[in-house]
Amino acid sequence: MKGSGRHLAAEGLSESGELNMKMMPFLAPPLLAFAACAPSSDIAETPNAIAENNVSAEHLAKWRKDNPSWYAVVEPFQLVGEQGAGIYYVGTEGLGMFFIPTADGHIVIDGGMPDQAPMVADAIRKLGYDPKDIKILLNSHAHLDHSGGLADLKAMSGAQMTASEGDRSALEGGFYLGSEDEDFLNAPPVKVDRIITDGETVSHGGVTLTAHITPGHTRGCTSWSLDVEQGGKIYDVLVFCSATVAANRLVNPPQYEGIVDDYRSTFAKTRDWTPDVFLANHPGFFGMAKRREKQKAGDALAFVDDQAFGKFITTAEGWFQDSLRKQTAAEKP
Ligand SMILES: [Zn+2]
Repeated sequence: MKGSGRHLAAEGLSESGELNMKMMPFLAPPLLAFAACAPSSDIAETPNAIAENNVSAEHLAKWRKDNPSWYAVVEPFQLVGEQGAGIYYVGTEGLGMFFIPTADGHIVIDGGMPDQAPMVADAIRKLGYDPKDIKILLNSHAHLDHSGGLADLKAMSGAQMTASEGDRSALEGGFYLGSEDEDFLNAPPVKVDRIITDGETVSHGGVTLTAHITPGHTRGCTSWSLDVEQGGKIYDVLVFCSATVAANRLVNPPQYEGIVDDYRSTFAKTRDWTPDVFLANHPGFFGMAKRREKQKAGDALAFVDDQAFGKFITTAEGWFQDSLRKQTAAEKP
């Protein structure tokens, strides 16, 4: 995979699209500590109290200000498949959300930020579908920039929330695993209705998705694959969970027990994957903007590239090795 780092850089790929410590606006949120020593009857009256949905408006405003691409509207469009089937993009410039229509109601992967369910719903309506007809909600991983909108999408549709056991506690608790006290990382809690395991499938309306647990970025990080037909050919599509380090602590104490081994197992497991279509929850990972331009210019298979994932995962593994070296060195006296 020589030259892959340069190639990806040329496509605008960097870790900077992801949630990382540099972006985190509130380094020492005192609210929980304060709440813990206040009499319980006062908690509801705490100034700037975390709203009922577990997320403060002030924190959201800061996330929005610091990450404008996450909120930049993209006209929804079909990534691959025939009209009315396959997979559509309903995310923003910086956050990938995906829509899979079926005659029996629809499937959505990821909900974006805690205030983004209305944006996802709008995108679905623009495609000619009703967000109330979402039947299955899937999640790549339990971080607020991908799980935040799920509770609202579930409330508006009554869809079944399906996720991995590893991410269940964070989804249902509305926290970032291992950073439970950092309330600026909170998401609205969402109840998981069905737990899936590695290799298990979710079938609905004639569409089958396979779950691949690719842990590290979160404990239950889940990549999803499905076959999509276009022009008489079948393409295997991967919506990859992520394998970047981003905000995670790898050492002393690790974000969660076993995180380093999990990353290594994910790189070993995915290194040889060659999906025809590589998609991810940060569109910079798969060079979406450039591919979309090609598609608009007439290339109906602009998102088909079975080399794209290999280049990405090789680069991500390099980032991981760097981060591990740096974080380990920083711990030495
Ligand atoms: Zn994440």
